[in-house]
Amino acid sequence: MKQFRILYKDDEEFLEKLTEIKQWRTSHSGYVTIFRIYSEDMELEHIRHICNCLDREMPDALYLGCTTNANIMDGALSDIKIILTCTIFEHETTQAEILQLPFSEENAAQDVAALKKCCEANPWVQAVEMHATIMDMSMMEFCNEMSRLREDIQVFGGGAFNPDMDDDTAVVFSKGNDFLEHGIIFLLLGGEDFHTYSTFISGWKPLKRKFRVTKADREILYELDGKPALDVYRRFLNINKNDKFFSNTLEFPLFLEHGDVDILRCPLAVNDDDSLVMSSDMQEDAIVRLAYGDPETILTSIREDGQKIADFCPEVIQTFSCAARRAFWGDKNISDETILFNSVAPTTGFYTHGEFLRMKGDMLNFNVTLVIVAMREGDIPKTGKKVNIAKAQIGNDNNEKIPIIRRFVSFIEASTAELEEMNMRLAVSSVTDGLTKLYNRAEIERKIRNALEERRNQGICSSISLIMLDIDNFKKVNDVYGHKEGDHVIQALADVLRKTTIGVPSSCLGRWGGEEFMILLPDSNADDAAALAEKIRQEFSSVSYETAGCQTVSIGVTQAKDENADALYSRVDKALYMAKEAGKNQVVRLD
Ligand code: GH3
Ligand code: MG
Ligand code: MG
Repeated sequence: MKQFRILYKDDEEFLEKLTEIKQWRTSHSGYVTIFRIYSEDMELEHIRHICNCLDREMPDALYLGCTTNANIMDGALSDIKIILTCTIFEHETTQAEILQLPFSEENAAQDVAALKKCCEANPWVQAVEMHATIMDMSMMEFCNEMSRLREDIQVFGGGAFNPDMDDDTAVVFSKGNDFLEHGIIFLLLGGEDFHTYSTFISGWKPLKRKFRVTKADREILYELDGKPALDVYRRFLNINKNDKFFSNTLEFPLFLEHGDVDILRCPLAVNDDDSLVMSSDMQEDAIVRLAYGDPETILTSIREDGQKIADFCPEVIQTFSCAARRAFWGDKNISDETILFNSVAPTTGFYTHGEFLRMKGDMLNFNVTLVIVAMREGDIPKTGKKVNIAKAQIGNDNNEKIPIIRRFVSFIEASTAELEEMNMRLAVSSVTDGLTKLYNRAEIERKIRNALEERRNQGICSSISLIMLDIDNFKKVNDVYGHKEGDHVIQALADVLRKTTIGVPSSCLGRWGGEEFMILLPDSNADDAAALAEKIRQEFSSVSYETAGCQTVSIGVTQAKDENADALYSRVDKALYMAKEAGKNQVVRLD
């Protein structure tokens, strides 16, 4: 596989280069010739002119291309608006074919069917490189259909783009076809001597703070944590609904786990109701987190995955890198991500509107990732030095951005963790009684109301029983032994309640007031409840306090009917009153 690179500046230089290529072909065994044309020049006449030159000068060569956010040449961001690569396969067996089709959500399945047919007719197909206009489109159905392609076919590619991230015009084109603003090009590649290896790098890491997708329909993300989805971007990142929304949010995609692959989803646009149009489907109940780019993680994965690319000994490397990565690094540093690959093989590509890679059969639509595709004809050469990337120094390893971002992130993560802990403690203390650590009055009442409602809906109110307790002659404890000792007695009763209800299904213990307690038994009848009450009474009376000696408790027990909570309270309270009246230190059951 031989690759020529062309930076299009003017016709003279371009035609000279084409002459050089033609000469090379006459003196070498070259077969299929493919030009890839990447243009951040949106003047279509300029691109058309180049296509016409190719048609005229090299009529047997295939070509395909698209408009881009920017181009990658020699492993670096190119300042030339139109770049071309010319790949000449040197093995007779390597084949290529181009399929260009109109592309929209409606005909995505049809397009994939056409591709499938093409792959069936051409069993040599091993890989499909794709360029497509995908702005404002759900790629869900397309990806689902693509996942059903013959299992061994690799797929990779990128979404055509525009140098202005907030302009959603993009174009794809190929030999013998029109320029399409809504189109897809499949470049089918294969043959027994053709080999590809593809991988992707993200390096975007999720922040701790989690959000639950509470409402979503396909790619429309309506709500996170019950609030309009835009709120998260507005509240945490000060990103508002305006014409810069897409470029602003692109660096902070949502992170979600998809099987064992972490996927990033970008908001593409905001609707009037503050819901977000996402780059692909969102599942209700999924947990998502805001993600940010971490330079150190990126550079580490480039070294690791880069070594795998180097070990493959490619002859050319194609890259499809998200325009968001360019926005994140800035034009000064963005090439750090790709430059190392050029020491392995000529590396070209472009900044995309979305990246595609088929992994384990699954067609994935990524955002904010860098898809790297290595290609080779023939076996890995036995001789020759392999490039060592794993230890390579990357241009801006000492980039001052690293410590600043890391510190801020660690600050945010620490604050989030602290807040989460505080929230948790607050949540616990708002339902807990300080002295006994049992539920407080409001919480036990809430639990009783909920249990009643739930069991009423199931028609089984009678499965609920209540036990109400009041310490006998407690005023005397306070008066004689002091308030502190009184507290000990209250705590001791709470301990007895905890101990005796271990293993009692769904039992809830609450402090009703002063030295009064309530036990909710949602799944016990009055017999079981009365037995438990008797056990509590005996247990408590057997505790002996240092100064106050032994104390006793009176207990009322009742079983619920189809009634409201107040009726139930008044009956259990009456049962307790009857126990007091009958001489205290006893259990009275009232049905
Ligand atoms: P009875 O047997 O009829 O229940 O008589 P009693 O003395 O227990 O009477 P009552 O229920 O009216 O008295 C409750 C007392 O509990 C009054 C109040 O001072 C005391 N008390 C309420 N909360 C606390 C507390 O948190 N700690 C202490 N030590 N005493 C409390
Ligand atoms: Mg009382
Ligand atoms: Mg009392």
